[in-house]
Amino acid sequence: MLLSVIIPVYNEEEIVAKTYEVLESELKNIEHELIFVNDGSKDKTREIVEGLLPGNPNNKIINFSRNFGHQAAFSAGLDKATGDAVVIIDGDLQDPPSLIHEMIAKWKEGYQVVYAQRNKRAGETLFKRFTAFCFYRLIGKLTSIDIPADTGDYRLMDRCVVDQLKNLPERSRFLRGLVCWVGFKKIGVKYDRAERTAGQSKYPLKKMVRLAADGITGFSSAPLKVSFYFGMVATLVAFGVFVWSILEKFLSPETTVPGWASLMTAIVFFAGVQLMSIGILGAYIGRIYDEVKQRPLYIEDKK
Ligand code: UDP
Ligand code: MG
Repeated sequence: MLLSVIIPVYNEEEIVAKTYEVLESELKNIEHELIFVNDGSKDKTREIVEGLLPGNPNNKIINFSRNFGHQAAFSAGLDKATGDAVVIIDGDLQDPPSLIHEMIAKWKEGYQVVYAQRNKRAGETLFKRFTAFCFYRLIGKLTSIDIPADTGDYRLMDRCVVDQLKNLPERSRFLRGLVCWVGFKKIGVKYDRAERTAGQSKYPLKKMVRLAADGITGFSSAPLKVSFYFGMVATLVAFGVFVWSILEKFLSPETTVPGWASLMTAIVFFAGVQLMSIGILGAYIGRIYDEVKQRPLYIEDKK
């Protein structure tokens, strides 16, 4: 059995050598290949990893020509991985490599995806923990596939899952969602997320928001339907305003400003009609979107 370990790294010169060492010592009794994906680092990350590579002829590095992002880095790693099982792990040792043994044990029991689920997140700001908490709950509500809460990308996947992922041609990738989408038997193992010991988070707010948007829009067309619901509400309100203004006209004609009733009704009614029409367009765009993603209709479990 060969285990591939994919490690995306972006400007991790302070810690990448340590990561290498910890992974090598953790995996010394398992046949493995480490695949570092250098996501366009501007520091010494590349030189450090290339200096370490001769230690194990299986290990490799993929260098990106610029920063293409974490999700692209995974995809590159998956394309190069040759193992029977593939582990994805962050390069900053926040995900404890010792958990890999537990993952392998579950894999041997027959689970094809073993994801690491965070109990605690040490050393992360309240803001990050709060936004992450909300994000996992929101995406859980909006999508029909169930993406386990509080799981990052740290996970082990069987070869059959990796082959399916490579078959998905879509461009804005949210790997955690795609892994759930392809199905197969899954289980989580719990762990406490450690603090970063060196360097800083490479996920500024901007990248977090983009990832969250890719996650939600990639797996749900609920946002497209929003205007339809607003439109229905507005049309109902228009009907209420209409009834109210007519009543007022007859019950207290002396206080009613001429033209008020017809104007109000027209404004609210047409706002409702417009929003509903946008909503109908949204429903069709949602379908076009499903088509262009070109995901297969079903996936067989050929075990
Ligand atoms: N990373 C990457 N490309 C990026 C941003 C991050 O390859 O554009 C890598 C980074 O080097 C690290 C992993 O992705 O190994 C997770 O990033 P980080 O630790 O900054 O995220 P956080 O743990 O703060 O969510
Ligand atoms: Mg990190």
